[in-house]
Amino acid sequence: VNAARYAIGVDLGGQSAKLGVVDAEGIVHVRRQEPIDAAQSADALARGIVQQIGELQKEASRCELTIVGIGVVMPGYMDEAREKLLFAANLPTLSGSSFLADIRKQVRLPIRFDADCNGAAFGELHFGAGRNVERLIVVTVGTGIGGSVVIGGEILRINHHISGSLGHIIVDAKGERCTCGARGCLETKASGRAIERIGGMSGEEIGRAIVAGDADALRVVRECGWWLGAGIASWCAIYMPQRMVIGGGIAALGEHYFEAARAGLREVGQPHLTSTVEIVPAALGPDAGMIGAAAMALSV
Ligand SMILES: [Zn+2]
Repeated sequence: VNAARYAIGVDLGGQSAKLGVVDAEGIVHVRRQEPIDAAQSADALARGIVQQIGELQKEASRCELTIVGIGVVMPGYMDEAREKLLFAANLPTLSGSSFLADIRKQVRLPIRFDADCNGAAFGELHFGAGRNVERLIVVTVGTGIGGSVVIGGEILRINHHISGSLGHIIVDAKGERCTCGARGCLETKASGRAIERIGGMSGEEIGRAIVAGDADALRVVRECGWWLGAGIASWCAIYMPQRMVIGGGIAALGEHYFEAARAGLREVGQPHLTSTVEIVPAALGPDAGMIGAAAMALSV
């Protein structure tokens, strides 16, 4: 019998749920991914997740892996006790629902819920590009921008269990209205949504265009990367990070985006606060949230 401890990590997004059986070293042993229909009721979504967890438990027991807990990360604001989701932008039927309490009732193992940005940060902190960094910010740039601040190995939880709404700092106060209701948010300038608005292409399309040598595509990615750097300058003024770990689909566009972000930070930021800040790609890729969720369950 295998005496090692394993946890199930679940990364629940607006389009899919990613689940894995993960060990204490962050290695994924069993995985599955299921599409999510965000229009479903909170009840139906909870039943679906519980069923997926059950399937994974069965698979783990067939492999003689001992599951000691479950970690679930998802977008949204949770209440203090993590029983209630106050607001979930990508899963609107869950806002104000008892989704978390319903899942907790239906699974037989200890379960821990957290924000998806915290899952990614916890994963990168323990197994990825954020190891041994005292003041760290882990940011995911996809359709939107989210992130968590880690100080001394602990996620900074200011309210609703998040470090703040990092993608919605204002970088261009006379700029475009953001989906959040504010104006000129970093998310309107540096995210996948911004790339789509400015370049008329999705992140994936623009990635292919760059490989094909499309100068306009490259210009759009550099522009968005530069604004990310400008946003990082503000995060530096508030949190004074030593390292910025950037992941997500847009970060996967690669060095052009990162170089532009470094240039933006140099041009915009206060030199004293920003000159030694490293901007590095995330190491765990799209698994960061799932691995982090499992690691949180194992760390209890
Ligand atoms: Zn916003």
